[in-house]
This record gives sequence, structure tokens and C-alpha cells, in this order.
Amino acid sequence: MSSKEYINKVMNQITQRNPREYEFHQAVQEVLESLEPALDRHPYYLDNCLLERFTEPERVIMFRVPWIDDTGKIQVNRGLRVEFNSAIGPYKGGLRFHPSVNLGIMKFLGFEQILKNALTTLYMGGGKGGSDFEPKGKSDREVMHFCQSFMIELFRHIGPARDVPAGDIGVGPREIGYLFGQYKRISNEFNGAITGKSLNWGGSLLRPQATGYGSVYFSREMLRTRDENFEGKVCTVSGAGNVAQYTVEKLIQLGAKVVTMSDSSGMVYDPDGIDEEKLAWIMELKNIRRGRIREYGEAFKNVTYKENSRPWHIPCDCAFPSATENEINEEDAATLVKNGCYLVSEGANMPCVPGAVRIFQEHKVSYGPGKAANAGGVAVSGLEMAQNAQFIHWSVEYVDAKLQDLMKEIHDNSYRTAEDYGFPGNLVIGSNIAGFLKVADAMLEQGLV
Ligand code: NAP
Repeated sequence: MSSKEYINKVMNQITQRNPREYEFHQAVQEVLESLEPALDRHPYYLDNCLLERFTEPERVIMFRVPWIDDTGKIQVNRGLRVEFNSAIGPYKGGLRFHPSVNLGIMKFLGFEQILKNALTTLYMGGGKGGSDFEPKGKSDREVMHFCQSFMIELFRHIGPARDVPAGDIGVGPREIGYLFGQYKRISNEFNGAITGKSLNWGGSLLRPQATGYGSVYFSREMLRTRDENFEGKVCTVSGAGNVAQYTVEKLIQLGAKVVTMSDSSGMVYDPDGIDEEKLAWIMELKNIRRGRIREYGEAFKNVTYKENSRPWHIPCDCAFPSATENEINEEDAATLVKNGCYLVSEGANMPCVPGAVRIFQEHKVSYGPGKAANAGGVAVSGLEMAQNAQFIHWSVEYVDAKLQDLMKEIHDNSYRTAEDYGFPGNLVIGSNIAGFLKVADAMLEQGLV
């Protein structure tokens, strides 16, 4: 059987055995297609059914999360944790609290996480979890009650050498605090079972900034291959959450002009550029007042707010989708290209649909896939685990230098691998093959487990 036939066979099995898990199918399809040159070169993966094993989670935990809201009414949500692959380290990946959360989305994110974590060069397996709970509009007390109930079940599955969750959409410092507090209370242990903790109780300096900063550091390497830098570049960013905020901050520091941000209600266009002062205003709006991006349009001159819209019709040099999956479709990609955009760095996970990626590749847009471009967050989570294990604390300069080195290494490894397999400049193929080879070889060496 050829590698192509093998991939098609496995993909058919996956769609049949995992019905309606569309995001999972999409993520696996993208990865498996790009592995063809690696399977051609290493046919023993085929003989050992590596793809069948690689695409089946080691364990999936699904549980009831009952809690009581502020009116005294009982609410029931669903909790999930997908422990996908532990070949190169304990399961590691964030928790997402959002009404859209389902098994297919958790599996897509857990699957991507395996390859992302392998690229960081650290010893971390892949996992992901979350709940269909919506923190937006809930009081702090409701969020705490939910987090405590969620942890009453999750605590038995996690631990610093077993499975180490962190934040993702809807899970920020507030939620991590409530989750860790309950974990510590039930397990009677203070350890690194969760990352993204606050600084004064075990968190790492720069963890909040790491995904956004990392995405910009990664794209700086992409620009370098074009002999360019960020000075004066017009950038569009989507989202206004953790990843978006620190992407904007680092872009400003490197001399770029950021003209958009967004949330799930709409986007703002600020032709004068979002400067440090305006960004501080947005951080206060989003992280403390928990308001809507629309209010930015009301607070600053010359800003346009567009309801139910994303930023991709705004002309830019570089685009940073940093909100959620499938937020750039084919039409958006064609518009970006038509308007002169030549770099796309995925701060979010799988924000571009496959057709959009094809358009970028056809037009020689430098395209950084999420599993490489947004790996900075989990990389610094890995550094947080290392600090926790030794009960020490590294300086901001040390962590930042490590983050920059790791992002450069992820870029260079993906770039080299793409070239080695005959697809120069294709960071999708490069990152997928580089991550896969590391995990696949570990799986083979550990036997049929
Ligand atoms: P976050 O702080 O919760 O922010 C998410 C942002 O995206 C918010 O502005 C949110 O708007 C918007 N958004 C969420 N769902 C949306 C939808 N369906 N349509 C339009 N906008 C939507 O989350 P985050 O941590 O920044 O995560 C953003 C992305 O980065 C996700 O894809 C996540 O998986 C990925 N990521 C995060 C990390 C990390 O360290 N946090 C690491 C790697 C990758 P509303 O407030 O209106 O919902």
C-alpha cells in the first residue's frame, strides 16, 4: 500500500469512527496529508500502524459538573479532558470554558497539542480539556462554584508528572486561581499540576505574555527569511483576549502599527494605530471590567466599530488571527492577499480553514501554522513546570531569552525539515513532520502501549 493509500484509509476510518467531530477530522486531515513524504521515507511507520495509534487518544474523561448559580438554581455542565498522547512527557494542554466546547473540539485541540509540544523541545505530551460552561456574564462567585465542582472530578486525573492543564479561551488568571485552590485543597499538595498560576504562588514570569510574544517572535523569524522586520509594518490582529493583547504589545514594541482588534461581537479599526496607552485601556476593559470591544470605538477618536465583523478586509502587511478556530475563510484569505498581506501568524489554534491556507501558500504568503507559531505559551508553561519542580523562580530576562530561543528553534526546525523533505518554505509540512517524527519514534521505542 502506498503512503497516500494508507493515509486515505486511516482518514476514512477516523471519519467513520468519530462521527460529527468535524474540527477533529479537519485537524487530522491537515496533518496526515502533510506526512506523506515522511511515510514514503520511513515505511516502518506504516508497518507499525503508527497513524492509527497516533490519532486515537490514550484516554478520554467526560464528567458531570453540577453547580448552583446566584439565584439558587442548579446548573449542570459537561467536563472533558482528552489525554491524547504521553509518549514524550506528561499530558499537557489548556482548559477551555466556552459554550461551543464538545468532544470533537477537545480532540482537535489535544491532537494539535501533541505536535506543538513536541516542537517546543521540552518533555510534554499532548492533552486538552474544558467545559461547555460560559464564564461571560457570570459573577465571580458563580465562576468559583463552577471551577470548584469541575476540579472535584478532574483532580484525580492530573498531577505534575501525569497531566498538567493550563488556560485557554475563557480560562484566565481568575479561573486558574479557583481551579488550583480546589486542587490543592482536595489533593493536599502544593505542586505544579496546573500552569498559568499567579506569580506569587508558583507562576512563571512572562507566562501570561508568552503565547502572544511567542507568535510575534516566530513571525519575526519568518520575516527574517524575507530580509524584513516589523518596523513600520501595518498589522491586523483578531481577538482581544490573552493571546491578542500580548501579540499587540510585542508588535508595538517592535515598531509595528496595529490597527485592529475584535471580540465575538465585532471588530474595531483604528487607522492611527493602537499604542501602548490605548492597549492598557483595552486590557483594563477586557481583564478587569470584562467589557466589549465596542466600547473602544466609543472611547477613542477616528475608530470605526463594525458589529459581527472580523478584521480581514482591512489592508495590512501582516495578519495575526488570535481569537478562535476557523475565523479566516477562503474569501477572507483572498481579500487579505488582494490587499497586499504577505505574512499570517496563527496565534489562535486552526484559525484558517484549509482552503485559506492553500490560498496563502499559492500566493507565497509566509504562513505560520498555529502549532508552531503559538507554541510559546505551552513552552513557558513547560518552563513553569521546571521552576515548580525545583522550587525556584527565574528572572524575566532569563525566561524571555529562553522563549526567544525556543521560538527561533521551532521556526528553524520546521524550516529545515520542510527543506529536507523537498518543500522549502512550507512550514505546515515542516512543523507537522518534525513534531510527528519525534513522537512517532518515541512511541515505537516504547512498544505497543
Ligand atoms: P481568551 O483570552 O478567552 O480570548 C479569546 C478571544 O477570542 C476573545 O476576544 C473572544 O471574544 C474571542 N472569541 C472567542 N470565541 C470566538 C468566536 N467564536 N468568534 C469570534 N471571537 C471569538 O482566549 P485566548 O487564551 O486568548 O485564546 C485565543 C486563541 O489562542 C484560542 O484559539 C486558543 O486555543 C489559542 N491559544 C491560546 C493559548 C494561551 O496560552 N492562552 C496558547 C495557544 C493557543 P469574546 O470575549 O467576545 O468571547
